Amino acid sequence: MKKSTTKPALIPKMYCNLFGHDYQVTKKVTYHVKEYTCSHCKRQLTTNSNGSLIELTPKFKEINDILERIHNTRMERSREKRLVSSIY
Ligand SMILES: [Zn+2]
Repeated sequence: MKKSTTKPALIPKMYCNLFGHDYQVTKKVTYHVKEYTCSHCKRQLTTNSNGSLIELTPKFKEINDILERIHNTRMERSREKRLVSSIY
């Protein structure tokens, strides 16, 4: 009787196979690009440039980090501009 060797890690994956992944937004990179993580099996997805969902590989993580930085800089600049135009 060796029934205690069942790996609990397999259960979330089985759950996803049966009911589908339960993706939650874990990071907002830009308005259009987000990162998702499945709350059951921790699989990660991201939005690519075509707007479809793809596996979040280390390469895409890197791209998203760069995108996020560019996006934040742009946001700050537009805020500054608005401030200036409200003064004059
Ligand atoms: Zn899943």
